[in-house]
Amino acid sequence: IVSKLPNVGTTIFTTMSQLAAQTGALNLSQGFPDFDGPQALREAVGRHVMAGHNQYAPMTGLPALREQVAAKISRSYGRSVDMDSEVTITPGATEAIFCAVQALVRPGDEVIVFDPCYDSYEPSVELAGGRCVHVPLALPDFAIDWQRLQDAISPRTRLIILNSPHNPSGARISSAELAQLAALIREREIYLISDEVYEHLVFDGVQHASVLAHEELYQRAFVVSSFGKTYHVTGWKTGYVVAPPALSAELRKVHQFVTFCGITPLQWALADYMSAHPEHVAELPAFYQTKRDLFCDLLKGSRFQFKRTPGTYFQLADYSAIRDDLNDVEMSLWLTREHGVATIPVSVFYQSPPKDLRLVRFCFAKREDTLRQAADKLCRV
Ligand code: GLN
Repeated sequence: IVSKLPNVGTTIFTTMSQLAAQTGALNLSQGFPDFDGPQALREAVGRHVMAGHNQYAPMTGLPALREQVAAKISRSYGRSVDMDSEVTITPGATEAIFCAVQALVRPGDEVIVFDPCYDSYEPSVELAGGRCVHVPLALPDFAIDWQRLQDAISPRTRLIILNSPHNPSGARISSAELAQLAALIREREIYLISDEVYEHLVFDGVQHASVLAHEELYQRAFVVSSFGKTYHVTGWKTGYVVAPPALSAELRKVHQFVTFCGITPLQWALADYMSAHPEHVAELPAFYQTKRDLFCDLLKGSRFQFKRTPGTYFQLADYSAIRDDLNDVEMSLWLTREHGVATIPVSVFYQSPPKDLRLVRFCFAKREDTLRQAADKLCRV
């Protein structure tokens, strides 16, 4: 068979989670919590399954859940969105991103992504016949390099994919940077996908700068989020995309033939839980900041070097003082096999990784005892 994706293998998340399972290592690689979502949320699924909510949901998503999403957006970002024409529930943020790309990108179009970039973007663009133009974020803070971004824009640029808070670095875009981006693309027909799946995982008292709060950018944006991250249920693969009516209409043309709709009882449960617990979202930063700080405090006893992550549930760490002779893929395998802690190498998120990159990513969405055990092992490396 002539592959449509000749350069794509199995994702690093599958590879590392399998290796962690085979070796019995603590799995701080693939991003998911090792604790459960709220009990009331899980119980609600059972209730709705038993109440007969088991047939197709509406294609655009359950109205009760779209209403909750619109209410949350209004509370968090002060934007009033129309739940019928602007909010679409999808089976995961991944499907939302895929559908948005298929809706916009034509053969020959260019899509700007920032490296290191999440691994689903490029295959989605390639399947649409487009081409990714990779703009590396500037080290050490993974900030947008405005000159490089400007240089990457061409008459073929159709779309820019933003991700803030950023996986794997945790870097956040500021509202001043959103304004700068708006000025840069004002005179061109360039659209945005803003991947904000970690929108509620921001630390140190800073507010997340959402594209939803930026009037001009929102008018050309698909803003994507994931209930999996926000409610600790990544396996539910339920997310949403918010976009102006004309863009939402195009996205829905694709979504209706990719999956048609998300899973019904999960949508009911999320709607119930969001309506009963609007405080959940406001409490998340403190919840994960405590985990970040515990992990980082413990890691101070190791030879890893790091700056506390500003967002997401990922902590990057530089291991050059430990094994400068290993590249980060080798280091991740070595840590997993020899030291019992699975990590994600950062170079796999690059088209051309910086040569001396010596960074691995730890997921700290873990119970306190897991973090203590992992740190204990890492301090002995
Ligand atoms: N987003 C998760 C991570 O970065 C993984 C999701 C997946 O496995 N596809 O670890």
